[in-house]
Amino acid sequence: MGYVDEVLAKVKEKNASEPEFIQAVQEVLESLKPVIDANEEVYRREALLERLVEPDRQFKFRIPWVDDKGQVQVNVGYRVQFNNSIGPYKGGIRLHPSVNIGIIKFLGFEQVLKNSLTSLPIGGGKGGSDFDPKGKSDREIMAFCQSFITELYKYIGADVDVPAGDIGTGAREIGYMYGQYKRIKGLYEGVFTGKGLTYGGSLARKEATGYGLLYITQELMKKHGESMEGKVVAVSGAGNVATYAIQKAQQMGAKVVTCSDSTGWIYDPEGIDVALLQEVKEVKRARLTEYAKARPSAEYHEGKGVWTVKCDIALPCATQNELLIDDAKALVANGVKAVCEGANMPTTIDATKYLQENGVWFIGGKAANAGGVATSALEMTQNSERLSWTFEEVDAKLQQIMVNIFHNIDDAAKRYGMEGNYVAGANIAGFEKVANAMLAQGVC
Ligand code: NDP
Repeated sequence: MGYVDEVLAKVKEKNASEPEFIQAVQEVLESLKPVIDANEEVYRREALLERLVEPDRQFKFRIPWVDDKGQVQVNVGYRVQFNNSIGPYKGGIRLHPSVNIGIIKFLGFEQVLKNSLTSLPIGGGKGGSDFDPKGKSDREIMAFCQSFITELYKYIGADVDVPAGDIGTGAREIGYMYGQYKRIKGLYEGVFTGKGLTYGGSLARKEATGYGLLYITQELMKKHGESMEGKVVAVSGAGNVATYAIQKAQQMGAKVVTCSDSTGWIYDPEGIDVALLQEVKEVKRARLTEYAKARPSAEYHEGKGVWTVKCDIALPCATQNELLIDDAKALVANGVKAVCEGANMPTTIDATKYLQENGVWFIGGKAANAGGVATSALEMTQNSERLSWTFEEVDAKLQQIMVNIFHNIDDAAKRYGMEGNYVAGANIAGFEKVANAMLAQGVC
């Protein structure tokens, strides 16, 4: 058995109750085979892969808080510090009832390679809780966030581990978490990113993941002699990533005809109205049925269905495993040219293979959604300098980072004879930097 298969077998055995983590490791290690084979002797002796797939450490803790009725509620919190070979741990906090240690580990593992791809000095980590922010009052959200940080503060710091937003954690939650950290530690430091603009946040951070997704998609289209102008785009999700992906796609001259949330989806042949979407989801925190009510051109459908719509480009921006093999078949049958992932691991392994085998240009989330964390790293730089850059400065840096990522992953795939396989290219380019740093730092 080759080294990759041996390590994969051990990962499956040791983490049997963590299917998402196994899925992420399998996808990465299999695509790294050519690199591992070329360096097998050294990597084996140094147990490089065994070290890569085992987090540096992970914390699990109780989060008691009091709801508006005076009832004590208890949630579980997690932080996985996966790898800090190239910088402080960096990764978001997910608040969603589906959160468990396997999900946080999968996200943390992906984050290590993604952060490496940005070319900025950030390691990888991830955290979260099974707390559901939906339907909670502001006071309940604050009570939860304060309790979460009362435990987590021990493990984080501006040069140690810098959390950020993710599903369920937006500017409001980051504000409450940052306030509690500051209060306990008595320190004003850039320990979170995604902060509000009045207390150390960066302009363009809010837009960064969605905008970055479109910058890399545009570069992909350019490489294939195409542009975004006039393209029909299907987007899933209606949160932070989806909203700004839709906005930037439209600024580039494309027409985005779908979006979705956890209960249903919208088909709007005249193009999604971003201002209305923001009003429904960001301000009112309501369902997409409200969007359809306010927009005569829109149809609302219950359940899943975004990928059945005819489009040139598909951008999954909701959550993991939301684009399955049947969805991939429907997209191919409808003539899709490109799929770029705004979310983390939204496409299953078999669906990814199907798309690639059918000539669809596919960029995975590790590269395609790296604009968010890259801009978080720019927020860290501004905090260290105690300066704030303009929106245009940050946006220009983001755009350059995404263009560079595209060319790095394209080149990495070519170097190993896999031209056009941007998934392998991203894994290879991200891995090479982390592996070299780990080897240089000895056994640790
Ligand atoms: P948000 O919470 O802002 O939005 C998530 C969207 O996805 C919502 O529309 C939500 O629906 C929907 N959704 C969530 N869970 C499910 C589910 N189980 N089934 C169907 N729909 C679901 O999160 P973000 O936009 O920040 O994140 C979206 C994805 O992008 C995640 O995979 C995240 O890890 C990834 N990502 C985010 C980054 C960022 O900067 N925010 C950076 C890099 C990656 P509803 O409105 O009903 O809750």
